[in-house]
Amino acid sequence: MPHFENRTVGFKPRERNIFFHILTACNLSCRHCYINPEQHGTQTLDRETIDTWLQLFYSPTKETNVIFLGGEPTLHKDLAHAIQTAHSLGYHSVTVDSNGFLFHDILETIGPEDAVLSFSLDGPTAGINDPIRGEGVYATCIENLEKAVKKGFDVSVIYTVSQMNIAALSAMPELLHSLGVKRFFIQVIGIRGKSATSETTLQVSPEQWLTSIPPVAEKAASLGMHVIYPKVFLDPDEKFECAGLAAENYFIFPNGRVYQCPLCEDFPVNAYRIENNQLINNEGLCEDRFFTLNIAEGCVMNKLLQPGNISYDETGKPLHRISCCLLKQEIIAAKG
Ligand code: SF4
Ligand code: SF4
Repeated sequence: MPHFENRTVGFKPRERNIFFHILTACNLSCRHCYINPEQHGTQTLDRETIDTWLQLFYSPTKETNVIFLGGEPTLHKDLAHAIQTAHSLGYHSVTVDSNGFLFHDILETIGPEDAVLSFSLDGPTAGINDPIRGEGVYATCIENLEKAVKKGFDVSVIYTVSQMNIAALSAMPELLHSLGVKRFFIQVIGIRGKSATSETTLQVSPEQWLTSIPPVAEKAASLGMHVIYPKVFLDPDEKFECAGLAAENYFIFPNGRVYQCPLCEDFPVNAYRIENNQLINNEGLCEDRFFTLNIAEGCVMNKLLQPGNISYDETGKPLHRISCCLLKQEIIAAKG
């Protein structure tokens, strides 16, 4: 019987994570896209602004990590330059989250030591992936992922679980193993962007999540992958912590909005904004007011946005507490 180390990845007070959307444009139109141009803008940041904002968020006293996002970040002609800027400023790690199209010959303009490449793939076959992400996307994503692995890049895959692909998740570990993927992020479909307004329910139920995800995660771990997935429900003895208070995460959009909580990104409640290249703390009813509310259900934003996912006993006590959406569970095969 294989053994696994299965643990909650607590928030690290000495770490700062910058989720930097350098543009919102994308060549795809995925069914669950969380980009909301009304709230996040349609701008493409210029090279100078990217450099300035990277400087603004870099902390020499913290382990500062940047994840470049879009839209599709490789559509930005200055992505390779931005990656070099992040390194010269001293960023601890650089990741690029791509839909797999890898525009602007990014595999030729950066090297494996420059960035981790994270590919979004929502199915083990074109038949599952393409109805979600678009015709022909599976073939392009796999082809470029293979090229990246061959060139020695550290490659991760993000699979967003929804009603459209939960049944196919169990086929992913073997596929990813055969492709040479090192890290597997199993993500739960959000309650933001297009999926919040979809006519058909794409969200998975708590029961589906709890019964489907752990066995697949263990299977991937047994094949040598590092598997990470959102905690979603806290164990009875686990302490609830809101990342807005216990961690330093900045979700930066090209219109200058800066959020601390991804669940708030559909609303104009961002705690910060960038104005004239300065970070300004917004006043009024902003997301940070929610972070301090202490409720029996755990995460306040989940309770507000998805109350149907919380069940109660006959005394009105929640059966599960909902964890912060940024709290992760990690599973790796134990040595020995
Ligand atoms: S690749 Fe990402 S940004 Fe582009 S449409 Fe899909 S989810 Fe949205
Ligand atoms: S998801 Fe909930 S717990 Fe996490 S930062 Fe947002 S409000 Fe806080």
